[in-house]
Amino acid sequence: MGNIYAAEALWRARIDPRRRANELTGVEVGRLHKAIVEVLTEAIARLGTTLGSSVSDYRPTSGEGGSFRLAVYGREGEPCSRCGEPIERVIQAGRSTCFCPKCQR
Ligand SMILES: [Zn+2]
Repeated sequence: MGNIYAAEALWRARIDPRRRANELTGVEVGRLHKAIVEVLTEAIARLGTTLGSSVSDYRPTSGEGGSFRLAVYGREGEPCSRCGEPIERVIQAGRSTCFCPKCQR
């Protein structure tokens, strides 16, 4: 999956994106799996995500943009909608990811 939806799923699962996948507990893996299914199901139902003019995600053929609302991606510096802590951004393997340093562990 792409980095945008990966960031969204990790936020929902409250998992810090800097953690190594092989160090997650079974409970965390279960939470992440549930979050990935939720994020992708919701994004598809909302016809994807529309970002700013320079970058665009999937667009339906009608020309309308998708309406999936991003909780963390592209919100660096904005308050986390769950706890109010400012969202941070890091670069991992050349891709940008955003997360909440307080409620993602
Ligand atoms: Zn938070």
